[in-house]
Amino acid sequence: MSRKVCKFGGSSVKDAIQIKKVLDIVKNDDSRNIIVVSAPGRDEKYDEKITDHLLNVATCGKYFDEQKIYISKEQSFNAIIKKYKKLCSDLEIEDKHILASLEKDLNESTLEDEKREAYFLSRGEHYNAKIITNYFISQGLNIKLMLPEEFGFILSEDFRDGKVLPKTYENIEKNFEITEDVKYLVPGFYGVTNENEIAVMSRGGSDLTGGELAYALDADIYENWTDTNGVYEVDPRVISSANVIPRLTFKELRLLSSKGFNVFHFDAMLNCKKSKIPINIRNTNNKEHEGTIILSERVPMEDLVGIAKLDNMASIHLQKDMLADEIGFTAELLKIFSEFGINTYHYPTDKDDIAILVEQEDLKGKINNLRRSIEKRLKTDNIFVSYNLSIITLVGIGLKENTFAIVDAINALKENNISFEMFDMSPSKISLHIGISQNTANNALQTLYKKLLQKEEF
Ligand code: ASP
Repeated sequence: MSRKVCKFGGSSVKDAIQIKKVLDIVKNDDSRNIIVVSAPGRDEKYDEKITDHLLNVATCGKYFDEQKIYISKEQSFNAIIKKYKKLCSDLEIEDKHILASLEKDLNESTLEDEKREAYFLSRGEHYNAKIITNYFISQGLNIKLMLPEEFGFILSEDFRDGKVLPKTYENIEKNFEITEDVKYLVPGFYGVTNENEIAVMSRGGSDLTGGELAYALDADIYENWTDTNGVYEVDPRVISSANVIPRLTFKELRLLSSKGFNVFHFDAMLNCKKSKIPINIRNTNNKEHEGTIILSERVPMEDLVGIAKLDNMASIHLQKDMLADEIGFTAELLKIFSEFGINTYHYPTDKDDIAILVEQEDLKGKINNLRRSIEKRLKTDNIFVSYNLSIITLVGIGLKENTFAIVDAINALKENNISFEMFDMSPSKISLHIGISQNTANNALQTLYKKLLQKEEF
């Protein structure tokens, strides 16, 4: 029978109304047999995630304090208890055992440092999964709670950033028997080490739990239910009429991802990509919408699928006569950036010049010494730094077949009198990057969107 792994994120399980929508979705399709849930999303009172409140309790209030959020350990403790109490009462679930055991866990005092943080962090998913399972059973679903500590979701001993160990796959295969009559519910985000101590994966890690289950069970599809209709052609906050992209390859998704795009934990794709398991991003609040399907391969029906924009970039432009003939120049330059812990993006270059694009934020407190090191070690003639740039990236596997789309992009900018600072085509030929001053970037994005995606004539 076909098998679907369905992961519901924090906003999909934040209260009884949302959990009822989840039940509806799960009931609607018999093949939705593995359900992964996150901890409840933002609470009403403090507008913080339960996971963050848990970390605040674990660190005795330091976690919020460091971010200048004034919520004490006790307030977080109360917010957590209140949240689970309300969930139980709204879903008409017996709360006595659940709340007593939650309180006991939140008073745990023997663990220290990372182990303590990991343990507290895991409690969000742990108790939410218990409540949701009880509720589903009360609504007539034959569903079994599968706790990571029981079936063996084994993580490395990096307690706050655990990596899945191969034994996990064997344990999943052994313990999840897929039949028509039973479904399984799994809390995301955490697992146990070989020593049976609780560890969590990186933040947003429930996506990873879902991805690993899909991989180990060779699922037909991994549905990732969230609060957006899917991946949009352009940022819908800039262009409200933007459409959802129905099909995307893993590679296109990665290229389109910019800081504003936070739908999905990228590492969760790795094993799905390896096994060619499609990932379907869907909206719990709009279940009829088919969302975006991410695949290993698709037919390129169009040149371009989407346009991303990355703001707050800076360009460091180096000049030196004949630098291109100096063997090892670029290697040494990149080494300097890596010594400063700065991630580099694009490197347009010619005989006497090279520019490196970086995130502006990464230069804070470093630019003076970075410039000094470059001048000293590479004996450059000039270094110019420009700030407040945006990189607009045009993405589509169809671009490979039609490199003339570049001409359309440049023409559209020309017709609207928008100048640009940099232009770069990636070696894969499926993306083009245009560097543009940040104050004209939204205008450029709209222009390119109208011309290349809406195919509007000016
Ligand atoms: N609750 C965890 C977090 O907020 C994991 C998740 O939601 O995926 O990071």
